[in-house]
Amino acid sequence: MSQGTLFIVSAPSGAGKTSLVRALLERLDDIQVSVSHTTRRQRPGEQDGVNYHFVSIETFEHLIERGDFFEYARVFDHYYGTSRPAVQALLAAGQDVILEIDWQGARQARDQMPEAISIFILPPSREALQERLIERGTDDAAIIQRRMRDAISEMSHFDEYEQVIINDDFATALADLEGLVRAARCRLSRVREHHAGLIGALLSQDERLK
Ligand code: 5GP
Repeated sequence: MSQGTLFIVSAPSGAGKTSLVRALLERLDDIQVSVSHTTRRQRPGEQDGVNYHFVSIETFEHLIERGDFFEYARVFDHYYGTSRPAVQALLAAGQDVILEIDWQGARQARDQMPEAISIFILPPSREALQERLIERGTDDAAIIQRRMRDAISEMSHFDEYEQVIINDDFATALADLEGLVRAARCRLSRVREHHAGLIGALLSQDERLK
């Protein structure tokens, strides 16, 4: 079985990353999002094992010691990490895998897998970002200010990524994201590996007509 490709997707909260990734999964086969582990509390509507694996700090630290994380980071007071065995199993099964992770995790992932494709999603304007942060259920000015600060700090790392998408019009941003995945599937190394049988048949000098 040929290996899938790893995609690293980062964005500040409020840039629409999760909606874009969800829509992408509806359009393409053979691509999955890695379910991260986190020590933050489960929010209403979230499901354990679907949105995240919600674990205690003790469990998380035990997994760190065992070397089970492909990458992990402390993001806004909580631990978040990607399970190495889970990602390896998906890639080995030929699935493309998306990691929705922050810039710290992206650095670690790139160091270990330089062929991974890293994508940063930016909002179309500062005002739009602020509006999207306000829509998230609270008008507490201090909380919104903190979210804005966190978003700016995440965005300051956008130039560490190979690809950048500005999410102004959702359909266009989605087409851009889909385009990046499709382009990766056309890479020479990948086509050689995934379609070895086809290439062999096309290049065969056996002239007999079938
Ligand atoms: P939230 O708590 O809002 O779901 O996520 C907060 C932040 O944690 C987001 O920026 C998200 O990208 C990041 N994050 C989620 N899962 C992981 C992970 O497995 N590793 C790292 N490094 N960051 C993650």
